[in-house]
Amino acid sequence: MPIKIFDGHNDVVQHLREFTPDGIDFLERSTTGHLDLPRAEVGGMFGGFFALGVFAKYNAEQDLIVTQTGYEVRMAAPLDPVSTRREIGLQLSALRSLEQRSLGKIRIATTVDEIEQARREDAFAILLHMEGADSIDPALDELGELYRSGLRSLGIVWSRPNIFGHGVPFAYPRSPDTGPGLTPAGKDLVRECNRLGIMIDLAHLNERGFRDVAALSTSPLVVTHTCVHALCPSARNLTDRQLDAIRDSDGIVGMNFSVGDVRPDGHRNADTPLTLVAQHIAYLVERLGIDRVAIGSDFDGATIPAAIGDASGLPHLIAALRDHGFDDEALKKIASENWMRVLRLSLQ
Ligand SMILES: [Zn+2]
Repeated sequence: MPIKIFDGHNDVVQHLREFTPDGIDFLERSTTGHLDLPRAEVGGMFGGFFALGVFAKYNAEQDLIVTQTGYEVRMAAPLDPVSTRREIGLQLSALRSLEQRSLGKIRIATTVDEIEQARREDAFAILLHMEGADSIDPALDELGELYRSGLRSLGIVWSRPNIFGHGVPFAYPRSPDTGPGLTPAGKDLVRECNRLGIMIDLAHLNERGFRDVAALSTSPLVVTHTCVHALCPSARNLTDRQLDAIRDSDGIVGMNFSVGDVRPDGHRNADTPLTLVAQHIAYLVERLGIDRVAIGSDFDGATIPAAIGDASGLPHLIAALRDHGFDDEALKKIASENWMRVLRLSLQ
């Protein structure tokens, strides 16, 4: 029996033909990008978190230059909430159209039971995630609206500031302690997500914001797609102190395949051996325990190791983990069971 995978993060929504005219048909095997239904099936992936969001098109006029000790990094400028809300609405309806025309093969799930039912019936389960709360108003009316639309996972920030908190810039080598913590509105957002049963994702959040959520949230701490700072000192990665807080909250880390966050040299070079990915996962397991580590590929959002290539290459990662000494029981936990465990705790 091949190991089945539930993935913690992808950005394929940006590339769907329902959203963008030159996008892909998710139901057909494509030669571009990382993820579509046929390639997911080959790779053993039965579902995952699909991110809605508006990301950076780096351009010197729009982007803030954050000056830090010794060097400068680019950081995306804040978004306009009104146009962001419109984009998110279009992405949501793109996914609903895809679900509809898939004739039951793709289902947007809002509970673990629905994900598991889809799996039993050989359907593909989508859990709606939003990467950055930039479209949400301080009164949080939009949050309730998104919840009713099926949103069950929310990243407070992407790598930019918003009214709730501050993201980390894409910087290497750099500590994730890059600025202030959550704003009062950010703390309200955490409380309301807890109340509604929306999982809070701490990926892209800076360290002080992370600590604020750790002090406040009643749910396990979750980072859907990240790596280990001790092995690759990228600002996007988690320090040992952050990992310990995740362990103490019974939370989870989804291992990111983004090579710039995997490689010790921080280079965005796809020629990155899977032994390096396995080393991050082994470090996470050592620090967090086998029940608190999962996969968060960042398919269609990052440069990933050529040895995985796309979703159809996921079995190569499983093989690399097996070579590293993980047995079937451990692999099943990392591949899907741990996500189900944390989602059960978070979505109530
Ligand atoms: Zn991301």
